[in-house]
Amino acid sequence: MTKAEKSFLFELLETPSPTGFEMPGQRVWADYIGTFADSVECDAYGSTWATLKGQSDNIVMLEAHADEIGYMIKHITKDGFLYLDQIGGSDSATGRGRRLQILGDEGVVLGVIGNTAIHLRRDSLGNEKAPKVHELWVDVGASSEKEVAKMGLRVGHPAVYADGPSELGKDRLVSRAVDNRIGGFMIAQVMKKLAAAKKKPAFTVVCLNSVQEEIGGYGAKMATHRIQPDVSLCTDVTHATDTPGLSAPMYGRVELGGGPTVTHGSANHPLVVERLIEVAEKKKITIQHEAAGRFTGTDTDSIFQSRSGIPSALVSLPLRCMHSVIEMASYADVEATTDLMAGFIENLGKKETFQQSLK
Ligand SMILES: [Zn+2]
Repeated sequence: MTKAEKSFLFELLETPSPTGFEMPGQRVWADYIGTFADSVECDAYGSTWATLKGQSDNIVMLEAHADEIGYMIKHITKDGFLYLDQIGGSDSATGRGRRLQILGDEGVVLGVIGNTAIHLRRDSLGNEKAPKVHELWVDVGASSEKEVAKMGLRVGHPAVYADGPSELGKDRLVSRAVDNRIGGFMIAQVMKKLAAAKKKPAFTVVCLNSVQEEIGGYGAKMATHRIQPDVSLCTDVTHATDTPGLSAPMYGRVELGGGPTVTHGSANHPLVVERLIEVAEKKKITIQHEAAGRFTGTDTDSIFQSRSGIPSALVSLPLRCMHSVIEMASYADVEATTDLMAGFIENLGKKETFQQSLK
């Protein structure tokens, strides 16, 4: 990863883009990918896609989601404290004592989620439960409801944690919102690689950075209907289950640093998955396997059932501690996932279809 590429990744991670309020991150992404794509567009809700023209009009779409989980102001008390609602699957168990960036009318306002002192919780220690989201309260340094309003805040303003990216050891990235800003980064890297090649790709390549995945895959649904790809790879994070206390019989085994995962079943088209495995073997990319008997829990579930069906597959990046401020990924996995998606596109023939056969 070059210095410029890493600074793009860190800027993406630092830019708050909670579900329903993704445009700041989308603009960062569009500025970067626009330097090598033929065009960049967005739809009414903000899902943004870049196109690189190929030798044919057939379209291969790479998709990642642009949104991140967060909170929203639900209620403001007379004495100036805020109460929150979740945006997506925010984990209230890790909320107390954290700094929040609240995206108000006059820019970012810093707040802290209160943590009542351990001394004052003495009687309940030992049988304390994780707080529910409605039990978290936020202090923005105001003494009244009026003062909160003067800071440009009202009910409905979104917020994300203040934690940005750091690096650990030789190969690890830690941040909030690695889910799934890293996906937007990886699909942009694939397009960059393809754009730099001497020969145009056989298919036209569309990289889609969708809004509103964390609450149901809505952005991918709208944009796939419009783009009508012939084949699609979706990329998102998946649970690395190699940390203490996780049961492999319950959750399967996925290792951080073990390479991208391919998922089998449900939305994943058998022929697209087979091709990914062939490409991985050819390019000597180590992959891991995952089972999805009913659904994948990613945008793949929205993409594959668009119109008359889009042959699709999910390529996932192992991630520790998902939906926390210390989501952890491996740069080696980022590289391998990017190579696998680029290899898939390079391998496509001009007239390739992924049509099943009755014979
Ligand atoms: Zn995700």
